[in-house]
Amino acid sequence: MSIEQTLSDRAGNACEFCGATDALQPLDVGPDANGTAEMAVLACTTCADQISGTADIDPKHWLCLNDAAWSQVPPVQVVAYRMLSRMPDESWARDLLDMLYLEEDTLAWAKAGLDASTDADDGVVHKDTHGAVLAAGDTVTLIKDLKVKGANFTAKRGTAVRNISLVADNASQIEGRVNDQRIVILTEFVKKS
Ligand SMILES: [Zn+2]
Repeated sequence: MSIEQTLSDRAGNACEFCGATDALQPLDVGPDANGTAEMAVLACTTCADQISGTADIDPKHWLCLNDAAWSQVPPVQVVAYRMLSRMPDESWARDLLDMLYLEEDTLAWAKAGLDASTDADDGVVHKDTHGAVLAAGDTVTLIKDLKVKGANFTAKRGTAVRNISLVADNASQIEGRVNDQRIVILTEFVKKS
């Protein structure tokens, strides 16, 4: 039996999220999809485009997850979990996410794809000296004295730098204010506070 047929039987020939019956397609659920129905979902074009990120997320459309998220089918649970995670501004989505219970393996699968897509969106991840991910607005501490080029002072080890910003295209650089001057700091010399 083809994957389309297997999925179609499982899903009752309807989108496994919103129940639409038009324009259905199999969609692999990564990151390690193996081309079988156990790692794929049947989705309509509207759902599929938003799942894959080719269309912007329309939170109203995903109210269907109030039902679909309770599916017993792991790949459907995985996609539901990820879509809910991608709508952090929707209180109903946060509440639903809190209520969901996923088996350990399924949860790991859901999170794996989420991390991958976050990285792909941005491509640049800033990490401190210990590998902790840095975000704009964080406070970091300098782990060694740094001579500030062109400013003629040394930023002392142990100095806290508040409200850092990330240099968009360079994962090894952040910016912050030290001695009232905005300076570029290498991430390898900071520790997240
Ligand atoms: Zn759909």
